[in-house]
Amino acid sequence: MKLLVTGGAGYIGSVVAGRLVVAGHEVVVLDNLERGHREAVPPEAELVLADLLEVDTVKRTLAGGFDGVLHFAALALVGESVSHPERYWRVNVGGTLNLLEAMAGAGVPRLVFSSTCAVYGEPDEVPISEDEPARPINSYGASKLAVDSMIGHFCGAHGLGAVSLRYFNVAGASAERGEDHDPETHLIPNILRAAMGVNPYVEIFGTDYPTPDGTAIRDYIHIDDLSDAHLLALAAARPSEHQIFNLGNGSGFSVREVIAAVQSVTGKDIPTREAPRRPGDPPMLVAASERIRSELGWKPRKPGLEQIVADAWAFAQAHPRGYSK
Ligand code: UDP
Repeated sequence: MKLLVTGGAGYIGSVVAGRLVVAGHEVVVLDNLERGHREAVPPEAELVLADLLEVDTVKRTLAGGFDGVLHFAALALVGESVSHPERYWRVNVGGTLNLLEAMAGAGVPRLVFSSTCAVYGEPDEVPISEDEPARPINSYGASKLAVDSMIGHFCGAHGLGAVSLRYFNVAGASAERGEDHDPETHLIPNILRAAMGVNPYVEIFGTDYPTPDGTAIRDYIHIDDLSDAHLLALAAARPSEHQIFNLGNGSGFSVREVIAAVQSVTGKDIPTREAPRRPGDPPMLVAASERIRSELGWKPRKPGLEQIVADAWAFAQAHPRGYSK
């Protein structure tokens, strides 16, 4: 298939773009390189350097004729979405509206969308199923939920076949690509920076959560398993339908447990500092992933936290200061 990957220079988008190339697809990446890296784009893919807010460029690009779009381009930081909500509504919602309109105009039949467990806010039931009411508590989750809603309406009106994957905490690295954000806000890369001495310590945001050790619990999923799910989702898209799947392993680990796992994998001492809770962070997010397992046949190949950390560690050691440094 000929596929457009928006955000294909970012962490998740670039890994999935690489997988699509290996699977034999023709891949065009659209990215503004604001937070992504040119070096992360697979060399076999064409790069269109553009922003989804440039509506004419998006329409021109889509007019080239595509069999599907995998839409990763977005802002994705909970904390930033609390302090700068306008960015999240403009980029995530406005950018996707431009994309969907251009797709409808060009008759592109398939979409796989990067949604998030942040749509569930502070859920009543954990593990979280797709039937849990979506009540986001930050603009990141709220903007992604708005897009999920928008996609449903486009499926009804224009015959689009779409799959939203609601990611839990994506981590690890593929053989070629990994996580490189500036500033880095994510837990595992920050612990690894402390392990390498690039950062003096890692902060533990919140030690008074209602969890066994007082730190927040998340469900970490290996980026390679997440990539598998995208290939399955692409094949499963059906005209006029919007399917939604949660995507996580179903096991929760606290911040302190993740630090212990990094200590055990790297053999390094990790200096820590306790800090207040980060605004917008829920105490516990763990996936119920039965739906994607049974309906798409997804099965994680690397569900263990140690494997996830080991692969992130290999990438961090090969790129201690990121892709281009
Ligand atoms: N966290 C932390 N120290 C850090 C980065 C993150 O304690 O340097 C915590 C954060 O508060 C959250 C969890 O680790 O409870 C996962 O955060 P991350 O930013 O990796 O992903 P998120 O869950 O926000 O998508």
